Amino acid sequence: MTTDVINNYLSIQENIKKIRVNKKVNIIAVSKTFNMDQIAPLIGHGHLHFGENKLQEAFYKWSDIKSNNKKIKLHMIGKLQSNKAKKAVELFDYIHSLDNEKLANVLSKSEHSLDKKINYFIQVNIGNESQKSGIPLNLVDQFYTYCSLELKLNIIGLMAIPPNDNNTNKHFQFISEHNSSLNLPELSLGMSSDYLIALKYEATFLRIGSAIFGKRN
Ligand SMILES: *Cc1c(COP(=O)(O)O)cnc(C)c1O
Repeated sequence: MTTDVINNYLSIQENIKKIRVNKKVNIIAVSKTFNMDQIAPLIGHGHLHFGENKLQEAFYKWSDIKSNNKKIKLHMIGKLQSNKAKKAVELFDYIHSLDNEKLANVLSKSEHSLDKKINYFIQVNIGNESQKSGIPLNLVDQFYTYCSLELKLNIIGLMAIPPNDNNTNKHFQFISEHNSSLNLPELSLGMSSDYLIALKYEATFLRIGSAIFGKRN
């Protein structure tokens, strides 16, 4: 059976509306591993924000579509190596995985050489888990200052993937408070399994894959 992408998408929108009446929430349809045949209906429906986690796959799938449809916004949500940063600035409109100084330096240089500015989320290692990427909590403020003041990167919010420990509320609340304390306008939080929780904590960008496109192989 094929997954009905549009129906899934519409019911997620309904769920969001029940919780967030006024404030704008953006769904990022995470299309990693899915092919254009599966993604196209959502583009046709007018959805604009899509997320990928691998640079090469993203180029292959999105280069032509993006040059023909300037309204589409592409989000890099996966680990980014600094030697691929320039390519990423070329293709993406948002990077959610800004997580180290070396990468930040190369991104800033790439913006200059390409004469292009994009938007960034600082990825925070909210549970201080050794296997996860992200800036440790105690270094977030310093890193934010460096990126925004020294490098002039347009940092619009924090991003986090919470530990799998049944304390999602606590983690989301913490990151949301930290986001507010930095006066950041956006917050990248919530996936298929926890986006309704993320909404309670002021998330403005939800990264939703399988709940829209179905199970990944
Ligand atoms: C794959 C991915 C998602 C989407 O995950 P689903 O559980 O399919 O919604 C969100 N964020 C990141 C960083 C991802 O890699």
